[in-house]
Amino acid sequence: MDEFALIRRYFAPLSPAAEGVVLGIGDDAAILAPPLGHELLMSSDTLVAGRHFPLTTAPYDIGWKALAVNLSDLAAMGAEPLWFLLALTLPQPDEAWLAGFADGLGTLARTHGIALVGGDTTRGNLSITITAVGSVPAGSSLRRDGAKLGDQICVTGTLGDAALGLQLNGSENRSPCAQSEHDLVALHARLDRPTPRLEAGLLLRGFANAAIDLSDGLAGDLGHVLAASGVGADLQADALPVSEAFARQAEAGDRLALQAAGGDDYELCVCLPPDRLAAARTAIAPLPLTVIGTISAEPGLRWWATDGTQLKPELLSYQHFDDRRQAP
Ligand code: ADP
Ligand code: MG
Repeated sequence: MDEFALIRRYFAPLSPAAEGVVLGIGDDAAILAPPLGHELLMSSDTLVAGRHFPLTTAPYDIGWKALAVNLSDLAAMGAEPLWFLLALTLPQPDEAWLAGFADGLGTLARTHGIALVGGDTTRGNLSITITAVGSVPAGSSLRRDGAKLGDQICVTGTLGDAALGLQLNGSENRSPCAQSEHDLVALHARLDRPTPRLEAGLLLRGFANAAIDLSDGLAGDLGHVLAASGVGADLQADALPVSEAFARQAEAGDRLALQAAGGDDYELCVCLPPDRLAAARTAIAPLPLTVIGTISAEPGLRWWATDGTQLKPELLSYQHFDDRRQAP
């Protein structure tokens, strides 16, 4: 199958007639008409086989996650998804792999009404780069640099599931009961098919002073907000929200590291004034919004236990060029 047949067969179906698409796949470039009075937001992310996902990952999950991580960036800015580009490097045009990949990618794309408008297809080691484009009414994006003294620091959903799923990969010394099987499936689903919080991002635009999505781990990601905003934070370790599967399966001694430095959660972390909390919670319900700490004047990030003692956890956020931390 040549490159053009491959694009026609697997990727053109992800390019429905969509709003603002004057010309989609097939010419040298797509022609797009931005919504009037809006700003465009663009974000790229690359997934490299063997680094961002194990070589054994199902093609459906690779397609899903490649788009999900980009949509999560749009969500963190409060943007509505519009279009995306796909740059795909493949060792060979394996049809079963392509069908699964396009299915995962297309399922998530249709869920959020985002249209594929172009890309590039090349031969080489498996790697996927997606560029997603979204929009917001001019001036209304959520950013990292707006956190204010006294803001409550909140997260959507639960933290640590993906990291625990990764930790439990291949661990054989667990009791093989039905409950832990069920929990493992749930934890792996969080790792392989993360849910970008687009709806919550849009709704939180009216409430939050700052936002970021949690891809590399809470401690590191919140650190970017603190640095950009010129503030510090005090966090309650026991306030970090957990799923039922996490509560049952995580070892007590691992919890804080998994939740605060684990990464791959793709939840949103937002900073908002206390008097907006109740309305923000109502707006995004039933998705939970949990207060985990407060923005303070003293720079840096401090962790506290419920009894008021300070914790000094060693937390390393995922960084590609940091030798202290190896890729999975
Ligand atoms: P060119 O050689 O002019 O750069 P290509 O031959 O790479 O164009 O691509 C032809 C058309 O197919 C373009 O419109 C391009 O955007 C689209 N395209 C190529 N690869 C992909 C892909 N993986 N997904 C979606 N569209 C693609
Ligand atoms: Mg060309």
